[in-house]
Amino acid sequence: MPKQVVILGGGPAGVNIAHKILKRSLPTLADLKVILVSPNTHTYWPVGAVRGVIPGEFADDILFHPIQAGFAKYKPDNFEFLEGKATALDVAANSVQVETPPAASRPCPTTSSSSPPAPAPPLVCLKVGAAKTIVVAGGGPAGVETAGEIAAKYGAEKKVTLVVAADALLKGWKPAVGQAAEANLKSLGVTVIKGARATTAFENNGAVGEVALSNGETIATDLFIPSSASLAQDKSLRVSGTKNVWAVGDVGSLETKQQLRIDPQVASLWKNVDAALRDPAAVPSDHKLFSWFASMVKGKTLFTEHSAAYMNGGKA
Ligand SMILES: Cc1cc2nc3c(=O)[nH]c(=O)nc-3n(C[C@H](O)[C@H](O)[C@H](O)COP(=O)(O)OP(=O)(O)OC[C@H]3O[C@@H](n4cnc5c(N)ncnc54)[C@H](O)[C@@H]3O)c2cc1C
Repeated sequence: MPKQVVILGGGPAGVNIAHKILKRSLPTLADLKVILVSPNTHTYWPVGAVRGVIPGEFADDILFHPIQAGFAKYKPDNFEFLEGKATALDVAANSVQVETPPAASRPCPTTSSSSPPAPAPPLVCLKVGAAKTIVVAGGGPAGVETAGEIAAKYGAEKKVTLVVAADALLKGWKPAVGQAAEANLKSLGVTVIKGARATTAFENNGAVGEVALSNGETIATDLFIPSSASLAQDKSLRVSGTKNVWAVGDVGSLETKQQLRIDPQVASLWKNVDAALRDPAAVPSDHKLFSWFASMVKGKTLFTEHSAAYMNGGKA
């Protein structure tokens, strides 16, 4: 029976740790198999998504990458891609239940930058171009930037509201950064609501009609774009209260949800997973937390030039 690592999620963190384990552990652990579970056949570059929601800004093959193509270099004995969604985890039995095929498979149509531009539909499923009112939920970089990109592009054409559960934007950063972000958003015409959580589920590609808030208010809207939640982690990136379950990337609670946290987290996690594969009694090392403030200046490309390297293992 091979040693098996199951990775849930084919985002930048899941793809990166899968490549890292295959590139670094497999050469000396021949009976190793990595199974990557993802509800989507493609992974996308979220850093570019803030502008990608605006029709015509990035072609789909800049933002979306086929997951399996990046793993074609590994043998089927060592790597399997499973299109599906994890629905239950049995920690005691070390097993995951996966629903396949996914409930909704790839509803987004795609275009290619090398083919003539398609007249319709828009780049991503979210109908940003058509919406007159948009509610974005989440006070982290994703929510703040998405609201900012839309407002900067469309100005008074669209009414953009940002709903933030905390009492400030960009919590976990220096307070001045959050204050500056809020001032910038307001100068772009964004309405910022703090201290309230959006409780409406994301469905119908965000065309929900209205968004309910935890303070009892509702906001009528053409489009709803929510952000994400976390799993509690210990300092070694292990999910609290478990032995063999680890978290990396946005799903974790230890660090802010940022692309630039992924490479250092993957490096720490790989060491711990590699040690556990060789010796189940190995004591994991703590992940070294970022202690400095990193600039969010991303320029015109939103780092999309790095997205392909993530998907084919060039960063692992
Ligand atoms: C709009 C936006 C702008 C951003 N801008 C910046 C920036 O400027 N700088 C920066 O550093 N960071 C930025 N980030 C954050 C950065 O993109 C994230 O930190 C990074 O994408 C996290 O990658 P991830 O793989 O952990 O999570 P994700 O990219 O969210 O991937 C998680 C994957 O898990 C899958 N999944 C979910 N549930 C299941 C399940 N039950 N079973 C199987 N799979 C499942 C999802 O389909 C998804 O593919 C931005 C994020 C967004 C969304």
